[in-house]
Amino acid sequence: MNASSASETRAATVKLLIDGQFVESRTHQWRDVVNPATQEVLARVPFATPEEVNAAVASAKEAFKTWRKAAIGVRARIFLKYQQLIREHMGELAALLTAEQGKTLPDAEGDVFRGLEVVEHAANIGTLQLGEWANNVASGVDTYSLLQPLGVCAGITPFNFPAMIPLWMFPMAIATGNTFVLKPSEQDPMVTMRLCELALEAGIPPGVLNVVHGGAEVVNALCDHADIQAISFVGSTRVGTHVYHRASLAGKRVQCMMGAKNHAIVMPDAHKEQSLNALAGAAFGAAGQRCMAVSVAVLVGRAREWLPELVAKAKQLKVSAGVEKGADLGPLISRAAHERVLGLIGRGVQEGAKLALDGRKPTVPGYPDGNFVGPTILADVKPGMSVYQEEIFGPVLCVMQTDDLDEAIALINANPNGNGVAIFTQSGAAARKFQEDIDVGQVGINVPIPVPVPLFSFTGSRASKLGDLGPYGKQVVLFYTQTKTVTARWFDDNATAQSMNTTIRL
Ligand code: NAD
Repeated sequence: MNASSASETRAATVKLLIDGQFVESRTHQWRDVVNPATQEVLARVPFATPEEVNAAVASAKEAFKTWRKAAIGVRARIFLKYQQLIREHMGELAALLTAEQGKTLPDAEGDVFRGLEVVEHAANIGTLQLGEWANNVASGVDTYSLLQPLGVCAGITPFNFPAMIPLWMFPMAIATGNTFVLKPSEQDPMVTMRLCELALEAGIPPGVLNVVHGGAEVVNALCDHADIQAISFVGSTRVGTHVYHRASLAGKRVQCMMGAKNHAIVMPDAHKEQSLNALAGAAFGAAGQRCMAVSVAVLVGRAREWLPELVAKAKQLKVSAGVEKGADLGPLISRAAHERVLGLIGRGVQEGAKLALDGRKPTVPGYPDGNFVGPTILADVKPGMSVYQEEIFGPVLCVMQTDDLDEAIALINANPNGNGVAIFTQSGAAARKFQEDIDVGQVGINVPIPVPVPLFSFTGSRASKLGDLGPYGKQVVLFYTQTKTVTARWFDDNATAQSMNTTIRL
């Protein structure tokens, strides 16, 4: 905990949401929510007690008794209203997000907007949650399926998208008829709480959405809780793997979207200017703290000669506080993250990588205390180096080289992570081969950050995902529902008795 006595007296407290009420926690454990550009303490977040976690789950369990039967129109209209409220509060939400997370204001709006798209999708629940019907599977017999809600579901979210990722979770869980307990990131919970206030204003009834704050203990309590049916997790591979095993062992349905090492292949026939611009934006935007950030560029054949131009483009990016006009990247989330990223850059150099651009000491006028790292490029990176093995989660691009596409695909498929990948080429044949042979969830063709819109599902391969079904899109409707298959026959009043038949036949 980093709460100081000074912050205890001044900063506002982040509330829990239990049974429709925003309440003060009774815990003795608190943590400061800190502006990463200035170190100003913005608020204090509680680590909820076991009793508070139980109260949130009990409220959700009770609310499920009625919410599971709420009419489709009632559920859909709440999310129609909710999307309108989010649009009306976009500026306020983005400002809150920038203050506690650090990303630039336009990027913060993007964070809210990508979540808003899921809310809009949830408003279509009537068509998304349709079952299937087969008429006359035998004479006078029909079979049909129902997609019924599971009960209480829980979500655990990371710091890097404090608007989008909570909105990946609770709108679709609630729209499908479940009730929800959310555990936001303890590093930046304020915008998430504002979104929850707006959700209640949109008409979500008491108990249907609850929020508890905390760290490992609260997460473990949710994983173990007998009254929770499903857990959705987004965060690092280390924590996600733990959550997956712990919650699965407790009999829950679990989906974990986890860490990444996203490669971008640049073929020698690529559109040079477009590709290098896309690469610089995808590597350094949001200070590299996107799970879909490009963190490895693989320059194929003669594209390796483009490194100096890539460095020149990266140098042009402006490092500043997210509120500053023209800022391209803001600070890292915490002092600890700052130390970690600087440490990894140093290790990369020790292990033989070449520092083609050193962003370790950027000058940021007006913000001497921010957790800033400027765009950094490590060239000649090889598999086995720490900077390649570990997810850096900062504005650091590793550059590698291969002779051809086959070698580049083999390199990427040998990396443990499989979250996002991109190829830059003007060749349809190369792009098609890449799309067929690459083992990664999100694939971009001349698109550096191919996050799917909610008509599709976010996915992942290998160490980037555990569980079969991803968040949003069609998959999440299946994740948050149980399929029930009904086979029905109705006797008309004049039916003649049939002989009893002991063979299995309809
Ligand atoms: P994190 O794993 O540290 O934290 C995620 C959540 O787990 C938080 O709510 C945190 O309180 C909780 N937690 C932390 N330690 C825990 C422990 N020991 N036991 C139980 N719970 C614990 O992740 P982060 O640093 O907040 O987020 C960055 C990570 O998330 C990166 O690895 C990034 O790639 C990943 N991410 C993945 C996706 C995706 O869709 N694949 C999206 C966004 C972020």
